[in-house]
Amino acid sequence: MYPQASHSDPALYLARTRPDHPVMFFDPARLGATARRFLRGFPGMVTYAVKANPSREVLDNLVASGVRGFDVASPAEIALVRDAGAGLDLHYNNPVRSRGEVAEGVRAGVASWSVDCLSELDKLGAPRVAGEEVAVRLALPVKGAHYDFGEKFGLAPAPAAALLAEVARRGFQPAICFHPGTQCADPEAWAAYIGAAADVARQAGVRLARLNVGGGFASHRDGAAPDLEAIFARIGGMADAAFDVPPGLVCEPGRAMVAESFTLGLRIKAIRGDGSVFLNDGLYGGLAELRDIGPNTRLRVLAPDGQPREAAPCPRVGFGPTCDSLDRLPEPLNLPGDVQEGDFVLIEGMGAYSLAIATRFNGYGVGEVVTLATPGAQG
Ligand SMILES: *Cc1c(COP(=O)(O)O)cnc(C)c1O
Repeated sequence: MYPQASHSDPALYLARTRPDHPVMFFDPARLGATARRFLRGFPGMVTYAVKANPSREVLDNLVASGVRGFDVASPAEIALVRDAGAGLDLHYNNPVRSRGEVAEGVRAGVASWSVDCLSELDKLGAPRVAGEEVAVRLALPVKGAHYDFGEKFGLAPAPAAALLAEVARRGFQPAICFHPGTQCADPEAWAAYIGAAADVARQAGVRLARLNVGGGFASHRDGAAPDLEAIFARIGGMADAAFDVPPGLVCEPGRAMVAESFTLGLRIKAIRGDGSVFLNDGLYGGLAELRDIGPNTRLRVLAPDGQPREAAPCPRVGFGPTCDSLDRLPEPLNLPGDVQEGDFVLIEGMGAYSLAIATRFNGYGVGEVVTLATPGAQG
C-alpha cells in the first residue's frame, strides 16, 4: 500500500518534505467519486480498463466503490484482478492472444472475449460455460479522439457481420465491441458506432446480447471538464433508437476513470539562460504520454515553502532530466513569470497511462507515491 499522507493537499506535503524526486499523489476519495458517477450515470455495466493504471490501490478502491467488471489484456492483468477480489467479471478484450494466453484465461474463468478475425475465434474453440460471450470488434473511421484505436484492431462493417454470424453459429453469446478512441469526448462518435453496430447485427441476422462501447469518455486535461452525463445520455438514447431490442450496454473506461485521482508533483531542477526549464521528470517517466496526446495545462507552481507563484504565465521550453535529447516536452510549458529553480510544479489529472508506463531510465522516474488524506479528515 502507498504510504498515507497526513493531509489532503499535495502542496503541504511538498512544502514539508521538499522532495527532489517526482511524487505522485493518490486521492482515493476522488477515484471513488468518479466510479460512482459512472455507476450512477452509465446506462449499463461499468468495467475498468486495467491497463490505464493497474495499481493495487486503484483496483481495491474500484471494487470497494462497486465496480464488478474489469477489461484485461493479459494473464498478468487477470492475476491482478483475481487478487483484488472474488467473483469479479473478467472481459478479455485484447483481440490477439496466444494459445497459452487463451488457456490461462479459461483457467481464470474468463467468460467474455473479443475477436477481430476468424483465426482468433478458432483459438477460442467452443463455449465452455453457458452464456460465454464473444464480441466482434468493429472499427469505423470516426473522428473525435486523440488517436485512432481503429488503426490496430477492428473490422469494417461487412467482415464484422460475417464474423458475428460465425460467433453465433459456434454457440457463443454474440456481442459487438468498439473503442471510439482514447480521450474521445464527442457523443456523436459513440452514436455513429452504435448505429453501425445495429446495422452489422441486422446484416448478420443476429440478435445482439451485448454492446460494449469501449473507453474514451475523455479526461480533464485542459479547459472545461468533459460532460460525461451528456455522453451517457447519447449512448443510451442511440441504443434505444437503433435496435428493436436494445442489447445490454457495457463501457470500459480506463483514462476517464482514473486520471483525476492522481496529481503529479515535480520540481524545477534548473532554469537556463534562454529561459528553458529542466524538470525532475519527463517523457521517460510520469509525463510519457504527453508526446502522444499533447499537453496537460492544469498545473500550478509553488515556491519551496508551498506558496503559489502567481505572476502572469509565459511559455518556456521544458526538458526532462535524462541525458536523452528526446526527453523534451512536445509543447512549451506555461509557467508563472516568477518561477525559480527549486520550485514545485503540480499537474492534475495524471492518473492514467503515467505510473503504468513510466520507466526508471537514467535513474529517474516517479520516486514516490503517497495516498492523500480525505479532505476534512486530516489532523
Ligand atoms: C485501452 C482500452 C480501453 C480504455 O481506453 P481509455 O481511452 O483509457 O478509456 C478500453 N477498452 C479497450 C479494449 C482498450 O484497449
